[in-house]
Amino acid sequence: MCGIVGYLGGRNAYPILIKGLQRLEYRGYDSAGVALINDNGNLVIYKTKGKVEDLIRVSRDQDVSGTVGIAHTRWATHGEPSDVNSHPHFSENQNLALIHNGIIENYQSLKTELSRKGYHFRSDTDTEVVIQLIQYLMDSQGISLEEAVPMALQHVVGAYALAILDKNHPERMIAARKGSPLVVGIGENEFFVGSDASPIIEYTNKVVYIGEEQIVFLEKGKEMRITDLRSVEQTAEIRELEMSLSQIEKGGYPHFMLKEIFEQPQTLLASMQGRLHPELGVVKLSGFIDNRKRLLSAKRIVICACGTSWHAGLIGKYLIEELAHIPVEVEYSSEFRYRKPVLFPTDIVVAISQSGETADTLAAIQLAREAGAFLFGICNVVGSSIARATDTGCYTHIGPEIGVASTKAFTAQVATLSLIALSFAEQLNTISESRRQELVSELQRIPEKIAKILGHDEKIRDLAKTFTYARNCLYLGRGYNYPVALEGALKLKEISYIHAEGYPAAEMKHGPIALIDEEMPVVVIAPKRGNYEKILSNIQEIKARKGRIVSIVTEGDTDVAKLSDWSFEIPDTEDCFEPILSIIPLQLLAYHIAIAKGRNVDQPRNLAKSVTVE
Ligand code: GLU
Repeated sequence: MCGIVGYLGGRNAYPILIKGLQRLEYRGYDSAGVALINDNGNLVIYKTKGKVEDLIRVSRDQDVSGTVGIAHTRWATHGEPSDVNSHPHFSENQNLALIHNGIIENYQSLKTELSRKGYHFRSDTDTEVVIQLIQYLMDSQGISLEEAVPMALQHVVGAYALAILDKNHPERMIAARKGSPLVVGIGENEFFVGSDASPIIEYTNKVVYIGEEQIVFLEKGKEMRITDLRSVEQTAEIRELEMSLSQIEKGGYPHFMLKEIFEQPQTLLASMQGRLHPELGVVKLSGFIDNRKRLLSAKRIVICACGTSWHAGLIGKYLIEELAHIPVEVEYSSEFRYRKPVLFPTDIVVAISQSGETADTLAAIQLAREAGAFLFGICNVVGSSIARATDTGCYTHIGPEIGVASTKAFTAQVATLSLIALSFAEQLNTISESRRQELVSELQRIPEKIAKILGHDEKIRDLAKTFTYARNCLYLGRGYNYPVALEGALKLKEISYIHAEGYPAAEMKHGPIALIDEEMPVVVIAPKRGNYEKILSNIQEIKARKGRIVSIVTEGDTDVAKLSDWSFEIPDTEDCFEPILSIIPLQLLAYHIAIAKGRNVDQPRNLAKSVTVE
């Protein structure tokens, strides 16, 4: 969530920091701030509730000189979004400034203790205790900042990515991480710090991903130094960034979300490239092949995920159970981690997370690791925490997803789960070779079918106009399209703020049918295969109660279309791949409704892109 940027080098830090914050805006935030050691040697902080633009306004007539600085976008967890709660925070003597992403769980006891010792807290944040604790350790023990930081971090319980400036050492910066991502970019005699690589990419492609519980010491003209919390030196592994600048820009689209929806034919190809071999009728996943024995001996698969990834996981369950006959459970990571789940060493735990940083999913796999399960990650961000914490896995390879509402990550996750299901099916001989051949060939055709759907965007845009009045909306689907109903409803909620519920269509009569009247749009995903006859009856039930029906139907199907107020056609495909097609019009529908309502689709209120706090 939120963002950290830092700069230390020979250039003016302020414009680099502001641009960096703008690149991180997609992560969602409510306030912004910057600290600089200016040319007069003063440590100054400018910060405000609101957006980066507001920060620019606040600092317009101020001294923003200086070649070292840190900047932050805050997503409030402790204390309301306000000027004073915004980061950076000063220490008591105002010689130190700190920015922080994450949550300090034991802040209350530390705050009480430090207050008793005469330290004054200006904000309601959990963050402020860290910088006060560091100063307290320096004051009381007469030690340097370099010594105090590891000591302080050993007292802190919680998650953090943080960066610190010291007025008395304008040529230095210290940063650290535990649970929240942190990247350092290495330029020519300069360093960049970011909570992801997007603020760094235009300056250098040499980066170091800081590891769990590591502290990085940066100093002008010197090599970077990394230690663990006990001050034991660690080696810095320099990597080359794969990301390009064009991937994090809008490329002519008005919003990242629309760009990402339209990218799906290419991103799906990218996530299947080199893995799908229709000429041979096989799938080759290196993570699967390398761990074949362990994977094939699994008695059960447990999928852990949150939000959209959880919906993809549910589709994964249907795919794996149908094609590979292995029982699958799908768990909300946040629930799983805090109950007493029964896990066996023969289980495979699959963690799905676009960012690879989702705090609850990371904790879920730590739990699974203790139980001896084999861990398989499906992530997009290369080198992310979940990718590193799992035994093996598959990257989705879709490039950065910037829109907060996930679109291309979802379809790539479902495609990846399809590849996994097919790999199991092949190895376990659970489907015939000819059936596998059919499925592999059909999967190959999915990207062009998505392109066809996207060609009818106009139709959805027109439909969206009639929807803006709605206050509630119901999404229904059966079988493979039930998780699509959940995901379609989630998209609408996230970006239009219209209340929406997804339901298995047959469950409607056990409750939600009471809501249906002429005001209520009901989106029914009703392609020709699967439970077509059954869903036709569900549509009749809605019609009898005067609900307004929007249907997603298979090309050429007039029966459902006749019963619907509006219908939208998608190409025919295998049952099990329908979700990848049927979600596309629902993504577009949510987007156009949100635009018609004047919403900020790329940064919807209260939401953050990568949920690195629990
Ligand atoms: N917990 C801190 C606060 O509320 C940091 C939140 C963040 O990650 O931006 O200020």
